[in-house]
Amino acid sequence: MAEFQLADPEVRIEGAQDVARDLVVVPNRDVQLVPNIGVIGGTHSVLVVDTGLGAENAQKVLAFAREYAKGRKLYLTSTHFHPEHAFGAEVFADEATYLVNRAQAEDLANKGAGYLAMFRGLDPTVAKRLADTRIPTPDVVYDRDHDLDLGGRTVHLHAVGRAHSKGDQVVTVPDAGVLFTGDLAETGQFAIFPWFPPHDVDVSGLRWIDVMTELAASAPRVVVPGHGTVGGVEVLEGVLAYLRELRDETWIRRDSAMNQDTITEEVRALLIERHPEWAGREWIETGVACLCAEGQVSA
Ligand SMILES: [Zn+2]
Repeated sequence: MAEFQLADPEVRIEGAQDVARDLVVVPNRDVQLVPNIGVIGGTHSVLVVDTGLGAENAQKVLAFAREYAKGRKLYLTSTHFHPEHAFGAEVFADEATYLVNRAQAEDLANKGAGYLAMFRGLDPTVAKRLADTRIPTPDVVYDRDHDLDLGGRTVHLHAVGRAHSKGDQVVTVPDAGVLFTGDLAETGQFAIFPWFPPHDVDVSGLRWIDVMTELAASAPRVVVPGHGTVGGVEVLEGVLAYLRELRDETWIRRDSAMNQDTITEEVRALLIERHPEWAGREWIETGVACLCAEGQVSA
């Protein structure tokens, strides 16, 4: 596995870009462990999507959101419980209502502490960013679907079920055709499979394919991926094509009774050859392992 050599995962507000009316994205600049962050406005309220990693980043995001809101009420949501998306939420506690889907709230409660320890162990820069972090507790929890009225604009929060994590949700702004996917989609890199048995085996390649098929069919105008470049529906189609490719190349070999080490080696070499410019090569191995485990019974 590739060694981690991380740039400081700093959120930089100055690159914020308008992607629709009263809707701004603070882009991740292709820096690992920095998410794309959304700020969505209505007449009386503003919703922030994702916090950045740790308190200092989240304070910057909160200051930006406060200034952007100009007195409008603040809401916060996170696309899923992973540290760069949600482990800054406690900074918002006094100023925003933190709203998430139930499966994500359960992920935070059940797996938050384990991920905090794991991320602190990744790299000293990350450990410093997470030094004062406490696992946040949401103020409002919904089950599967929630319409949030921002005033003249309703934002739809939807829990997609297990895919990249157990508690992924997507955020849709129907009047602007904008979709925030969290880590269900990334550009310029191999799809992130957090398959860490025995600690975390919640990622499901097969359900992820189903979810991406549905999202692509909804044909959003603007897609804000968890990491990478904001684009259109082709962002979703690209991820879907890759997930199918990973599944098919893994299963062809598994069905010929090849052992998992050989499958991993061959699929990794093939996918790097096909996508030489993509980052995140370490996620191929975990993706193969996930799909081998999921595909035990052939149809
Ligand atoms: Zn994630």
